[in-house]
Amino acid sequence: MMVTTHACVGFVSSAINLCLLAIVYSSPIAEVMPLASLFVIVGTLGGFFPDIDRIEGRIGSINIVHRRTLHFSLGYFLLALITYVISLYYSDWRSVCWFAIAFFIGAGLHSVMDILDGPRDIDPTEGVYNHLSRKWIRPLNMIPFASLWEWIMYSLLSLGFILIAPFLPPFWNIQGVYISGGVYFLTCVVAAAYESQYTLPKKRAARKKYRLKKDDGNSN
Ligand SMILES: [Zn+2]
Repeated sequence: MMVTTHACVGFVSSAINLCLLAIVYSSPIAEVMPLASLFVIVGTLGGFFPDIDRIEGRIGSINIVHRRTLHFSLGYFLLALITYVISLYYSDWRSVCWFAIAFFIGAGLHSVMDILDGPRDIDPTEGVYNHLSRKWIRPLNMIPFASLWEWIMYSLLSLGFILIAPFLPPFWNIQGVYISGGVYFLTCVVAAAYESQYTLPKKRAARKKYRLKKDDGNSN
C-alpha cells in the first residue's frame, strides 16, 4: 500500500486512541493529553516507519529486505502491550509510554495492512514476512497498491485530519488546526517523494522481471 495511506492510518489510530482516553477519563482530549498534537505526529511516523525497509540492500551486516526487516504484523502490537504494562508500573514514564504505544500501533497496523496488498515484488507468494514461522505470508490482493480501493480508503482516512483538528491543543504556540493540516500536507509531500524515489523504480523493475520471466516461459 502507499506510504500516504499507512501514515494516515497512523494518524487516525492515534486520534482514535485520544478519543478513547478522553472517554475513559471523561475529560477533553487537551486535558487528558496536553501533548495530543505531538501524540498524533508520533502515530503518523509509526505508520510510515516500516516502509523504510523499502530502501533495501546491505547496511553493514544487515541485509534489508522490503516487508521483512521492519514489518512485524504481531511484534509491534506485542511491544505496544508490553509498553502499556510498563506504563502501569512506572507512572512517571506514562506519557513516554503512551507515545511509544502510538508509534507501535501505527507500525503494527501498517504491517497487517500490507497483507491485504499484492506481492512485495515478483514472487506472488511473498506478501509480508512472518518472523515466527520464518515464512512469507501469502498476499491477499484485496487492496492492491494505488488501486481504486486504496484511494477510497485514503480519502476516508483524510477525513480524520479534519475531524480531529478542532480537538488538538496548541503545540509550540501552533494551533491544532494548523498542526493537523501541516501533518497532512507533509505526509502527502514526503510520501510522494519517497514513493517516486524508492517504490516506483522497484515496481517498474519487478514488472520488467515478470515480463522477461513470462517471455522466457513462452519460448521454452
Ligand atoms: Zn509496508
